[in-house]
Amino acid sequence: MKIVKTIKEVKEFINSYKKQGKKISFVPTMGCLHEGHLSLIRKAKELGDCVVVSIFVNSLQFGENEDFSKYPRKEKEDIKLLEDLKIDLVFMPKESELYPKNFSTYVEVKGLSCVLCGKTRPSHFTGVATIVLKFLHIIEPDILLLGQKDAQQAQVIRRMINDLNLNVDVIMMPIIREKDGLAMSSRNNYLNKNQRKDACIIYESLCLAEELINKGESSAEIIRNEIINILQKVDYLVLDYVSIVNYQTLEYTNEIKDNTLIAIAVFLDKTRLIDNIIVRKK
Ligand code: AMP
Repeated sequence: MKIVKTIKEVKEFINSYKKQGKKISFVPTMGCLHEGHLSLIRKAKELGDCVVVSIFVNSLQFGENEDFSKYPRKEKEDIKLLEDLKIDLVFMPKESELYPKNFSTYVEVKGLSCVLCGKTRPSHFTGVATIVLKFLHIIEPDILLLGQKDAQQAQVIRRMINDLNLNVDVIMMPIIREKDGLAMSSRNNYLNKNQRKDACIIYESLCLAEELINKGESSAEIIRNEIINILQKVDYLVLDYVSIVNYQTLEYTNEIKDNTLIAIAVFLDKTRLIDNIIVRKK
């Protein structure tokens, strides 16, 4: 496994694989790796001949009052995990490698970036789209692996890839959860013992929603109210949103159908947690 910090080194490494006609699969991460990330990387190994993982805490996708400076960084542990998985290349650039002085070009995916998480985090998806486009140019992967944990992000990136005629297949992998159902996330590290225990209410509410839908309930309003009722059992939980939307367009829907996204964002004290399910109906 090679670890590189510069764009030049990435290109040199990738070129030798490209020349041999090998398939490159790419998993972008912000590090502090957990099973969620590892599931993407395992799939990347299955699908590609050369697996590239980036570890970069992207300042551009954090708002002014967000957790960029305290975002967990665990370089040594991450490298060990990646070594065990026997991936080919880790790209761990410095901030200045990707955002040199006078950097001033941004990718804005209109519409999809303004709803759900984009309401509370207005510059977030521009930061995400910009860094992902840069990575796609640098690495030129054949396959990009993303997690459903960030379902809106996956949709924003798919739209960008389509709009800008990029030649890369996107694979979205299911959400990996802790034993009690909490979606794995680097931000779970912020939770104290009580908050960690209470956090599983998010998935509980989604499971109840799924159960009601399976029994035939199709009113988005009823499902949304049920979810909110459950979340309110944790008295200090602050709701950011519970949104029921068409996963393709991210527009609100009154009726729950196939491919409806039920997405939740809450604050437990200062920690913002997200989770979702995508309804599959025949
Ligand atoms: P992050 O390091 O949080 O930027 O995440 C990097 C990638 O891992 C993104 O595509 C995420 O959607 C994905 N990911 C994060 N958590 C999970 C999880 N619990 N299950 C599946 N994928 C995840």
